[in-house]
Parts: sequence; C-alpha cells; structure tokens
Amino acid sequence: MSGIIQLLPDHVANQIAAGEVVQRPASVVKELLENAVDAKASDIKLIVKEAGKTLVQVIDNGLGMNTTDARLCFERHATSKIRQAEDLFDLHTKGFRGEALASIAAIAHVEMKTKQDQEELGNHIVIEGSKLTTQEVAVLPKGTSFAVKNLFFNIPARRNFLKSETVEFRHVLDEFQRVALAHPSISFTLIHNGSELYNLPGSNMRQRIVAIFGGKTNEKLVPVSEDTDLIKIHGFVGKPEFAKKNRGEQFFFVNDRYIKSPYLHHAIMSAFEGLLKEGNQPSYFLYLQVPPHTIDINIHPTKTEIKFDDEHSLYAILRSAVKHSLGQFNVAPILDFERDANLDTPYQYKDKTADFPTIQVDAGFNPFAADKPSKSLSSFGSYTKDSPQSNWDSLYVGLKQDTEEIASFSFESTEVTGSLFEEEATESSVQATYQIHKKYIVSAIKSGMLVMDQNRAHQRVLYEQFLTNITIQKAASQQLLFPLEFYFSSVEMQVLREMQSTLENTGFVFDGLTIDTVQISGLPVLMAESDVSVVLEELINNIQNEIPETSFSQSDTIAKSMSKSLAVKAGTYLTDKEQENLVNSLFACKEPTISPFQKPTFITLTVEDLDKRFAL
Ligand code: ADP
Ligand code: MG
Repeated sequence: MSGIIQLLPDHVANQIAAGEVVQRPASVVKELLENAVDAKASDIKLIVKEAGKTLVQVIDNGLGMNTTDARLCFERHATSKIRQAEDLFDLHTKGFRGEALASIAAIAHVEMKTKQDQEELGNHIVIEGSKLTTQEVAVLPKGTSFAVKNLFFNIPARRNFLKSETVEFRHVLDEFQRVALAHPSISFTLIHNGSELYNLPGSNMRQRIVAIFGGKTNEKLVPVSEDTDLIKIHGFVGKPEFAKKNRGEQFFFVNDRYIKSPYLHHAIMSAFEGLLKEGNQPSYFLYLQVPPHTIDINIHPTKTEIKFDDEHSLYAILRSAVKHSLGQFNVAPILDFERDANLDTPYQYKDKTADFPTIQVDAGFNPFAADKPSKSLSSFGSYTKDSPQSNWDSLYVGLKQDTEEIASFSFESTEVTGSLFEEEATESSVQATYQIHKKYIVSAIKSGMLVMDQNRAHQRVLYEQFLTNITIQKAASQQLLFPLEFYFSSVEMQVLREMQSTLENTGFVFDGLTIDTVQISGLPVLMAESDVSVVLEELINNIQNEIPETSFSQSDTIAKSMSKSLAVKAGTYLTDKEQENLVNSLFACKEPTISPFQKPTFITLTVEDLDKRFAL
C-alpha cells in the first residue's frame, strides 16, 4: 500500500519559503540590494512605488549573469556564493542560501534584465508566480535590473496584511539605509513615487552617515576605533547630549552586514552609563570586523541575527572601546544631569541676546462676572466665553441647560444660582483653583472637587485648536525678526514638504525648503522660538512612525504631535490666571474629558466620596 506522504511541488515549496524570506516590500528591497552588492556593483539604484507594494526595482552595474545563470538564479537553492558546507564558515558575501529570488518569483511578477560585461547581448526574463513567461536576448547595459511588481498578487491574505504606505515605506527606508551605511564606497540612489530622496555618492563612513542623516549629524559623532585579533571596531557613537528618546539611529555592522544584537547593544548602553538622561538612547554606527569562521550567520532566514563564538570578550572590548572614546573626546565631564532641561538653549540660540519677556495680564478680568469675560491669556489657546462649547459654566452652575452637560457627569445640585462657586464665592476674593505639586489643578465644584492633570488638559486644548486651524480656519502667525534655519536629512525634508501646507495652517511660515535645510520666518502664535527644533523633530519622527490604527489622518497626527510637544509639562508653575485660563479653555473643548491620547484629563471627587472617607 502506498503511503500518504508526498513531496511538495517546487512552486508550493517556494511559496512556503517565501513566507519566511519575504514579509513585506522591504524584504524584497533588502534581498535585491544585497544581491547587487554581492555582484560587486559600484552604483546601485533603488526605485520604489507605493512603498514597494506595486514596484521594487533595483538596477546595478555589477557583474551580471550569463544566459544559463539568468534562468537558474530563480531555482531554489541556486547560488553562486557557496559550493560546500565548509564555505558556510568562510562567508564573504551577503547571500548564500540561494532562496531569495526563488521566493520572490513565487509571489510577485518579476522582470529581470542582465548582461555581463564581456557579452554582446543580455537576457530578458519575465517570471510570474514561479512561471516563466518570457526569456529572450536583448541589447542591455552591463549589470542587472530586477523589477518586482505586484507583491503578494497571488496571496491576498498577505497583501491585505500590509500596513499603510507610511509604515511600509519606513521599513523600505530602514533597509536602504542599512545597506547604504554598510557599504559607503558604493553609490546609492533612492527614488520613491518619482521623487529622488537620496543620491549618495561613494564616500567614507563618516560622509555616508552625514549624507543619510543630515548635516547636523556631523558635530554629534565621536569616533570609535579598536584593533584586536578577535575584533576590529571602527565607527562612531553620538555624543550623549544629543541622545534622544527613540532608538532610531543605532547600527551594528558585522563584516559589512547589518545585524541586530541586544547583547552588544547592552555593551554600548553600559559604556554610556551615567552619561544619559533617563530613557534617552545614544546613537551609534559601529562597524565590526571579525574572522568569518568565528560567527554563524545561518541562524535566521533574514540573516539579521548572528551568533558569535566568543560573545563575552566582544562585549568587553566593545564596551571599553566606546567608553574610551567618550572619555578621550572629553564628552563626559561637560555633562550635568541635575540641570533642568527646560532651561536648555538649543545651540542655535546660544549667542543670541535674550528678549525681555512680555507678560500679558488682563487687569479687568473677573472670572465670576456673568457677562463675557475679557480675552483669556493667549498661552492657553482659544477660549472665548461665548463659544458654543463653553460648558464649563454648567459644571459650576449646576444643570441649568442639560444640553451643555459635560459628557457623562451628572451633578447633584438642584439649585440654580448665578454664582459659579458655593455661597462664599464673592467677586474676585476667592481663588478658584489651586495648583498642587506643579502638576495638578484642583478646584471646588458644586458636586465636590475636580482634579485636573495640567499637561493632559493643555494637550486637549492645543489639539483641538490645531485641528481647527488645520481644517477650518488658518491660524495667525508671529513674524520672526530673524528667520530660523534648521538642518534635516533629505528624507526628513521630504516628510516636511508633505506636511508643509498643513503646517502653514497652524501658523508656520516657510521661506525656503532646500534638499537639507528649512528657513522659517513665522511661527504659530503659541510657539516659542526655542521650541521649534524639538517640535519639528518630534513631528517628523511621529509622522515617519505613524501607526495607522492610532491616527485617522496626517492632520490628526500633526495636531497630536504638536500638542504633545507644546503642552505645559508637569513641573511647570502656573499662575492663578493661567490655571483659570487652562480650566476655562479645557471646558470650552469639544471633548474635554480625555486627552488626544485617550487618557483622562481630570477626575472628580463628590462630597459623598469625601464624606465616606471621613466616616472611617
Ligand atoms: P543568494 O544571494 O543567496 O545566492 P539569491 O536567490 O538571492 O541567492 O540569488 C541567486 C543567485 O543569482 C546568486 O547567487 C547570484 O549568482 C545571482 N544573482 C542574483 N542577483 C544578482 C545580481 N544583481 N547580479 C548578478 N548576479 C545575481
Ligand atoms: Mg541573495
């Protein structure tokens, strides 16, 4: 009797393998770029459409393939890079598993053109879902071009699983940057949806890092260098004072291959110990060279994790090399962790003379007057007493108008009086709010008391204001006497360009946007000059890492990001006036109860709650 086990047909096996190798468009980018590097190209172009969902094309000027290889390269386990098992322990190429092209061809439409230098003619091959549809000779330039179209066309589940274009493109960019950083001597170009984001000439390590992350990166880098039999280390770490909250710029390359290593990351973190503020992450670009036989790259299909023979020694060498550099370049002593970050001046402003602050005080303001109060302090936004959402009064007055009741709060008060506060509240003699621990604002209300989180409340106020500015009514700008100039990488500039008109609605005035600088001559009214660089950096970062589930649109992300950056933080003292304004502005909001990040902005304690506590 025959058994039930069968060998899977090749195209099925390839599709299964593809599941491991190709998770998303960025995986195709990685494989094709690495193949081009392995083919000894000196110039590599990456062309992507819709974050690679419709097209990933890599054009190289490398060795090319002859007619036989051009067909064979799409077979599973077809590789020119190793011949025998021992070769696995002496790898000098990125690829060696011979799986990538077979996998990609199983789940996409692939068009390949390739020609070797010494041949007259090249080969043109089209494969769709592992089926060869065209193979012909053609007049071609030296090198190879792979165009991968309609990824996952035959696996709708995988296609639907892909994230938004922003998220997928972020992954593509990560892969591009990793390969470009690993091979600074090769020139790389990246074109997305028709616009050129990077055109990186062949250069050295430092120039490559700066070309990718922008001119401002240069002054942040501290060189690291160490030469032992076990390992050679070259590269840079970022100065601790430039460390940021996100882990964006952390790169290890082992024998020119980008790898992830939590263990070695830990070595760096421990070298930075005592030099970083809580939660900050240093940047690093470290190139490690080890003898190929001391590592095993073959433990993961995407080859981003590797095993070292002597991890402990590497850890120690790396840690001391980084520590040494930080010490040698005098980075450590100038740091002072006790200082208040709020007082820091971004370096662009260091040499400017200070402006005298102007304080806007509205002497005639009477919070208890029944008629319209005068304008509120501008720093807390757009509160006006006659705005239709001004439901703050109802909280105090009791339920005179049910329609203005705040969310789900019900107030026990039955009396309807014109006074905002309990009987004792006469004119301006009573303080309506108290700030405690520079963090919460406490206030008596009819039903008991209210405790507001000043940071979240202000986020809500700013968020609604920015959204209104973006969608309905353009905000006014404050004109700057001296335009500000900031440096960004070309990719960051691209993000900025996409947001330009939205940001202009919030009050920004952009004078010039070049490939890596932006000039700003006007700011949103609420924004201090010293906030701008942080606000823009956080904004760009948030847009790049936007997660579609948490934001409805770019406008929403921008409003959220700016409100978070600009809201008063815990630890900021607020005057009575400012407290009142914040409270008033919050209750003039459409959704006063939650912050833009869905956290409660205030809590209430009823008199009953308090009575119960005292009854104990
Ligand atoms: P691997 O890179 O692991 O060998 P791939 O499936 O990525 O496997 O590629 C199969 C083979 O096709 C490679 O070994 C190489 O010989 C050839 N090849 C792939 N891409 C190129 C290219 N851009 N230029 C020249 N040869 C290539
Ligand atoms: Mg390969």
